[in-house]
Amino acid sequence: MTRHAPDWPLRADLDLTGAPATSTDPAGVASGEPPVRVAQPSSKRGPLTGKPAAAHRPPTKAPDRAARQRWSTASDLLRLVHAQPGITRTEACERLGLASGAAAELIERLRRAHLIGERRAKRDAPGRPTTVLTAHPDGPLALVIELSMAGWRIWCGDLDGSVSEVAASSYGNQDPAGFLPGIAKAAATAARGYGNRVRTVAAAVAGTVSGTRLLQFSTRGWDEADLSVLTSRFPSNSAPLLLAGNDAALAGLAEARGGAARGARVALHLLVAVGVGGALIVDGQMVAGAQGAGGEYGHLPLGDPGLQCPCGARGCWDLMVDGRALARHRGDAPPTDPLAYARNLLNRLRPGTDSRDRAAAELTARDLGAGIGGLANAHDPDIITVGGIAPNLRAAAPDAFNEAYLAGLMTFHRRNPPPVLDATYGDEGPVRGALALAFDEITSPASLATWV
Ligand SMILES: [Zn+2]
Repeated sequence: MTRHAPDWPLRADLDLTGAPATSTDPAGVASGEPPVRVAQPSSKRGPLTGKPAAAHRPPTKAPDRAARQRWSTASDLLRLVHAQPGITRTEACERLGLASGAAAELIERLRRAHLIGERRAKRDAPGRPTTVLTAHPDGPLALVIELSMAGWRIWCGDLDGSVSEVAASSYGNQDPAGFLPGIAKAAATAARGYGNRVRTVAAAVAGTVSGTRLLQFSTRGWDEADLSVLTSRFPSNSAPLLLAGNDAALAGLAEARGGAARGARVALHLLVAVGVGGALIVDGQMVAGAQGAGGEYGHLPLGDPGLQCPCGARGCWDLMVDGRALARHRGDAPPTDPLAYARNLLNRLRPGTDSRDRAAAELTARDLGAGIGGLANAHDPDIITVGGIAPNLRAAAPDAFNEAYLAGLMTFHRRNPPPVLDATYGDEGPVRGALALAFDEITSPASLATWV
């Protein structure tokens, strides 16, 4: 993976602002044979409009060095547009140090290649008029296949980050070998609607992933599965590249690229859903380990050694920070849907309400804060972002969280604790991160050299 184009400023330059979190509802779980919901391409949005793209095919051989160099600056510019949707031509040229003549030539070349579009920028300040750099209406697209605990969804996204859902369903009672071929068929059907524009498919999986293999999906009891089947229904002469990553890790990538940790050199992200996962992001890139399966923070033994985790280990932190923990503290039976249980409990918390709810939230927030303190000692991040139910859990018991977080920090960290920020992208984080991963590939100089 190549380094992301923008320069990542040091801590003093961190952009701590972020848009309010947005969310999408998880796909519902239906009984019996799950129906597949397939959306028709909409006429409203950039990535879903336009005539079929100029013909392009996967390369038969790698582009040579000169071809890659020719596309190097173009790659920087396109990655900047993906990382900062809405960026103006003037701002982009300043960021990349491009003279106006060279920029005009480059943008014209990219426009002719259907790789970039432009629209007039609003003039809200004096100065020369500029344009906003956008996705080209016939430009490259990526499909994101989201495999969450509740079900699956397919999204289509473009260079400037517009995403639209194109298909969704539940797993029914099937295991991966049973449902993956159906998703592959839905993906190929969706891609056909866009001509040959779909260049990459990225899977965001709520399990442990190495390359394109699912190693373990503990919360559903699934073992190994080959995800490469996901692109098996595309025509063999235009099969897109398949990438895959853990959903929490991808959410961290999204936060580091354009969310609450944007600009951080070292960012740690934690997503609490059923268990907790995450990623360390350094210079805008995931540090994913030798097999790509790192970031399984939930399986550190920060919990009760008397508790058996579905992953096979004992005493996992996973069991201390989610709906299973809240239910245990409250004296309830293990919930069948720990995420829904946690959301319900946290949503009903009010001052003066059920003291068992409040006690359960405080104990769980404490265990979350303590573990995050330990991870801050381990990784020394500039910024920590939290997503999933973690923001609500922290908001429900801020004192318990903060006290445990600070108590878990080494003394020198306590003088200047890494800020813990709520994620910007909410439940959209994994999809946003998968799209970023896909466009890293699509906008690489080698890939651009094959587009035209
Ligand atoms: Zn575990």
